[in-house]
Amino acid sequence: MGMSAYRAFFGHLDGYLPGVHFESRQAVKAARLHKEREAGISWGLDEDGQRAADAIVLNQGYEDDLDNWDEVIYTGAGGRDRNTGRQVEDQTWENRGNAGLRRSRISSRPVRVIRGSAGQEDYSPVNGYRYDGLYQVVEEWVEVGKAGFRICRFRLRRLSDEEQGLTSVERKIRDLIDEQERGVVDEEGDGASEAPVQRRAVTVERIVRDTAVVRRVKRWHEYVCQICALSLTVGAEGKRYAEGAHIQALGGSTRGPDVEGNVLCLCPNCHVRLDRGALYLTDDFHVVDRYADGPESLPTPLRTTAQHHIGKRFLRAHRRFWRVIDQES
Ligand SMILES: [Zn+2]
Repeated sequence: MGMSAYRAFFGHLDGYLPGVHFESRQAVKAARLHKEREAGISWGLDEDGQRAADAIVLNQGYEDDLDNWDEVIYTGAGGRDRNTGRQVEDQTWENRGNAGLRRSRISSRPVRVIRGSAGQEDYSPVNGYRYDGLYQVVEEWVEVGKAGFRICRFRLRRLSDEEQGLTSVERKIRDLIDEQERGVVDEEGDGASEAPVQRRAVTVERIVRDTAVVRRVKRWHEYVCQICALSLTVGAEGKRYAEGAHIQALGGSTRGPDVEGNVLCLCPNCHVRLDRGALYLTDDFHVVDRYADGPESLPTPLRTTAQHHIGKRFLRAHRRFWRVIDQES
């Protein structure tokens, strides 16, 4: 294998926006987002010929890992038994992956983070892998892990949406390319009979606010509102329409994550009522209408599907924001 195979590549890769989903590590590797098929750390040589890490996979490889979305505590590589996965030796900075992550901290190069389904449940995909954008390694140290051996630890912080370097126009264009290349048809209805130009216009209009995560959730629910069951049809072609609602808002001070567990598929009416705090959700996934009287005021179950695991932390953040007095613990 020549040196060129081990060049590090930092930052986003064309055509792959944060939120894009992959079925397997093999698919992640084929997209060149991460060089390895099994190892957690992807490293290569930087411009100075130093080993530097350009991506990691968070998939609960180590019992000491912590994932709070904006901040990740990641355990380095090495010293594990191949069969049991248990730590049986100390980790060292001689390990190429560990050295690479440290180098990326020193040279301030961003690291792509890919989450696998075995990771922290609220932030990880239900199956496969999801590219979650760029993080910065801000600190590394050595400590004794739960198994009693020295482990190399890294603190990574997610770059803000502005720092991710994707303007809304770039996002729109790249998303469009992404969809066309994959042949993804996001709409229900008889799209095949449409003129291509018309279809593209509709796609662009919608993509302005839809990330890959939102599109996935809408497909799971087949564009039916999870709160009121409305299946809204718009236009002469019988196209169905729904909106992706982030439970814990993306912007502002709360900074909720763009993950499936923080997104609902809603009709515009329920979307605006949730966003303004007129509706909220309980920990047992019932919808409460704060302004309804009589029988209408009884909580109704949220519609869901097997693959859509909604994170309770996002429901709680939404209730806190709207100052709902929590009756349940
Ligand atoms: Zn609705």
